[in-house]
Amino acid sequence: MKIWCATGNPGKLREFHLAGELLGIDVEALPDLKSIPAPEETGATFEENAGLKAAYYSRFATGLLFADDSGLVVDALNGEPGVYSARYAGAHATDEANNRLVLERLGDNPNRSARFVCAIAIAQGGDVVETFRGEVEGEMLKEARGPGGFGYDPLFYYPPFGCSFGEVEGERKFAVSHRGNAVRAMLAYLAKSQRQG
Ligand code: IMP
Repeated sequence: MKIWCATGNPGKLREFHLAGELLGIDVEALPDLKSIPAPEETGATFEENAGLKAAYYSRFATGLLFADDSGLVVDALNGEPGVYSARYAGAHATDEANNRLVLERLGDNPNRSARFVCAIAIAQGGDVVETFRGEVEGEMLKEARGPGGFGYDPLFYYPPFGCSFGEVEGERKFAVSHRGNAVRAMLAYLAKSQRQG
């Protein structure tokens, strides 16, 4: 079985390929993604944004395609940055600027609980077929730790590992991450659909 993936992010693609290999599903990047104008992410939830991206890009593919939407949800900030994670400090904001703003807004608040959320939607011919959600719980640090990962990883302390996501290898993170959990749910669904013919 093959499924197209609508992401231009090489880090995400590598993770998606790896997970697909484990379940015997061929995950391939949608060719020419860059030449297709990106849709506006107008959804109020991760699921809505993943769904609108998957439905949109599936019109440029033959067969099944998936898209994801993800972000950081901080309890003490009433769920911010949420669906605005990539553009929290403004359109085209850098990771550093987004991280600075989260730390500034959190200040010394003792409630540091947060989670990463990832929604993945599968679509075909312009219609969403199914949506999956993955989460991982952690705590916001007061300063960045670790050189690895991307986005908010250096601020996200994961208690079972005793370190931040910026301090672990990609594969180790994927084994427990929001994206890993959502991808595994999607691939299990596809493998089951394949078995049922
Ligand atoms: P998107 O899913 O590519 O739209 O990502 C949204 C934003 O959420 C990213 O730009 C990051 O700031 C943040 N984000 C999503 N997943 C992760 C992660 O695994 N680690 C760190 N930041 C993440």
